[in-house]
Amino acid sequence: MTLEIKATDTPEDRNNPVLLYNEMELRELNNNFTLEIDSQAFNWSYFTAKIMDTVNISIPETEKIILYSPNYYRRLNFVLAKYTKRDLQNYMVWRFVMNMVVGLSRAYRDTRKAFRKALSGTTSEVAVWRQCALYVNNNMDNAVGRLYVQEAFSEKSKELMNEMIKDIRDVFIRNLDDLTWMDAVTKKAAEEKARAIRERIGYSEHIMDDKYLNNEYKDLNYSAEEYFENILQNLEYVQKKRLRKLRVKVNKEEWVTGAAVVNAFYSSSKNQIVFPAGILQPPFFSKGQAKSLNYGGIGMVIGHEITHGFDDNGRNYDEDGDLKDWWTPNSTQRFLELSKCIVDQYSNFSWSCAKGLNLNGNNTLGENIADNGGIRQAYQAYKNFVKHNGEEPPLPGIDLSHDQLFFLNFAQVWCGTHRPEQAVNSIKIDVHSPGKFRVLGSLQNFPEFAKAFNCNKSSYMVPDKICRVW
Ligand SMILES: [Zn+2]
Repeated sequence: MTLEIKATDTPEDRNNPVLLYNEMELRELNNNFTLEIDSQAFNWSYFTAKIMDTVNISIPETEKIILYSPNYYRRLNFVLAKYTKRDLQNYMVWRFVMNMVVGLSRAYRDTRKAFRKALSGTTSEVAVWRQCALYVNNNMDNAVGRLYVQEAFSEKSKELMNEMIKDIRDVFIRNLDDLTWMDAVTKKAAEEKARAIRERIGYSEHIMDDKYLNNEYKDLNYSAEEYFENILQNLEYVQKKRLRKLRVKVNKEEWVTGAAVVNAFYSSSKNQIVFPAGILQPPFFSKGQAKSLNYGGIGMVIGHEITHGFDDNGRNYDEDGDLKDWWTPNSTQRFLELSKCIVDQYSNFSWSCAKGLNLNGNNTLGENIADNGGIRQAYQAYKNFVKHNGEEPPLPGIDLSHDQLFFLNFAQVWCGTHRPEQAVNSIKIDVHSPGKFRVLGSLQNFPEFAKAFNCNKSSYMVPDKICRVW
């Protein structure tokens, strides 16, 4: 039996921005966090200088750095002690090779078959056209984003989104009054932070500017015959672009995603919510579909992203996106208690697709808090819409009320299928709960759902205990 050494911190600690923020000078890293390899000290200054040399930035010994996990580096020494310098070199090069194999020809790619099967359960590769489209969108998101917007985005969507964001943000702020667990001082700060959230809808204006776009890609020279070399070139290009940011002031207005992406984001360091053009389509959103469907779809997503600013992670940042504690100790204490209710509720869900494993309520806490807030805010915003504009006419051929359609579209968004290997893996690494429990968990906590579908008191959807944070 060998004794396993775990250097990595727990997922909870790794998601706590206060614990991750350990500011020091580079020389302190060298002095206090020496890594021994073959009884030789690893030179952090040399390592850092060599990397930053590639973009002509010199790094003094007094350079301020943030050490994410002091304990990780302390424990890492015990792991490193078991290996030679040669082992470690081989391991690092192998990790790189393994990542690059997907860009090579069939014989190389086939070596990953067993690995892929174990991890995701798939026996065949993603179709080549899809792989290529994904690759280009991931690596040249502004170019693809522009093509997508020109083809498929209407400016009218932006207008409608602006209205929905305004309404849902107002609901979030008004709901603060009802929260008995939070004191007035913290509520005021929460309101200010909510008002300060910057929204980004559709696409960044930059990508429509030829000069801007040409400049972004001017250093790239692709060859139609050399796919693999193109990938290497891109890797270097993207990495250098990142490294050059070191001496540039953070631009909090900058978009955090491309436009052709079916997702939405909250950036805690920018206090920004983003809804790229890619998600502004059915079932999430359509300017032609019933408002009940829009509020249950994209409305819930808007509430979800706003609530991220106030989940276990986002609550550590202030209205400007700076790490700052704006909570009274009492409100923090109550927040932690109410979060615990959500942790326990989701930890009790067992997922049949994942061989009956239970969810990890700690790892998924932030997303679950966001889902629970999001569905409530979207529903209330829809009811406000109805109050001002009257009931929508029923949809022809479907015998459901608009309240029911609201919840139906919310659930529709999370439909999906899973292979057991992928399901087991996602429980270990995904910060989101599986779609099924994103629906069940948040609707168990929101009695309006049981009302809309006339669930009786003994129903699974009417639990004895309800969790609510926001
Ligand atoms: Zn989220």
